[in-house]
Amino acid sequence: MTEDLLQLTPSGLYCPAGDFYIDPWLPVARAIITHAHADHARPGSRRYLTTPTGAPLLARRVGDAVVQTLPFGERLTINDVTISFHPAGHLLGSAQVRLERRGEAWVVSGDYKLECERTCEPFEPVRCHVFITESTFGLPIYRWPPQAEVFAEIERWWRTNQENGLTSVLYAYALGKAQRLLAGIDASLGPILVHGAVLPFIQLYRSAGVELPKVFHADEMNARLHRGRALVIAPPSAGHMPGWLRKFGPCSQAFASGWMTIRGARRRRAVDRGFVLSDHADWAGLLEAIRATGAERIGVTHGYASQMARFLQEDGWRAEVIPTRFTGEALEEMDAVVDGTVE
Ligand SMILES: [Zn+2]
Ligand SMILES: [Zn+2]
Repeated sequence: MTEDLLQLTPSGLYCPAGDFYIDPWLPVARAIITHAHADHARPGSRRYLTTPTGAPLLARRVGDAVVQTLPFGERLTINDVTISFHPAGHLLGSAQVRLERRGEAWVVSGDYKLECERTCEPFEPVRCHVFITESTFGLPIYRWPPQAEVFAEIERWWRTNQENGLTSVLYAYALGKAQRLLAGIDASLGPILVHGAVLPFIQLYRSAGVELPKVFHADEMNARLHRGRALVIAPPSAGHMPGWLRKFGPCSQAFASGWMTIRGARRRRAVDRGFVLSDHADWAGLLEAIRATGAERIGVTHGYASQMARFLQEDGWRAEVIPTRFTGEALEEMDAVVDGTVE
């Protein structure tokens, strides 16, 4: 990839002509960040560039570092390269990064989903010559049911639990998924409690203008007060903390994730229910997004990269795997840990 606009280096994807990295996994001088999940936004770099709505989320990850912003659709030239951000629909402020140099355009997707919902800017297809796509759910078995169906299922589960005197504990990643659940659920069904790791992100979403229902901190007092009626939203790691669950009394546990497509995944989590709700594109969504770019060359990363690249090659694309240091589930788990499990 010598003449390429982006190269893979030990620190991550590097643009030699612009002298910057995209989502680097080691500290660098200049990092362009697609979104604030831990596998994309690593601390330690000197300067960061991201979207205005993504910046407060990123700032929580990177502490005192300089965070600069570039609004969606505006252009910025760094050395020889013009860059712009375009919504990725993954979480608040999440971006695809478009790079252009001498008439050649590359787009790095970051994580993305095609479904629209009100906690983030809707995904926008961007034309380019080279598209670097994620492939977290890059297997044909991953097909998302309509969101409305999933929310109806979650509400039914919550209501049934109430009838049986059970607290409903729903595990979801603290950043992105938790806010999407809050925005989509019928909050009139009962009190909603959230784990301490979810609270700061709720505040940041509200500051950005995303309306979310009233929530209570899932502390000892609120847990006792709302036992048997509440919906509790917590990161997956909370369930592993000894004693954490006890304060809610008898409960039913569920997990909201694309991984819940697979029965074994639910068993591994030892939860009662799994709801298939993902902030990534499913198999059909990935292919739709790839086609919409009009790109002739596809880099596949972050997930089932080799399977997806092989499929694309057989279908006549020029596709290659771009290895990543972290992938899918393990990393998203880590995300929850990094978000903190302190209450
Ligand atoms: Zn992500
Ligand atoms: Zn990711």
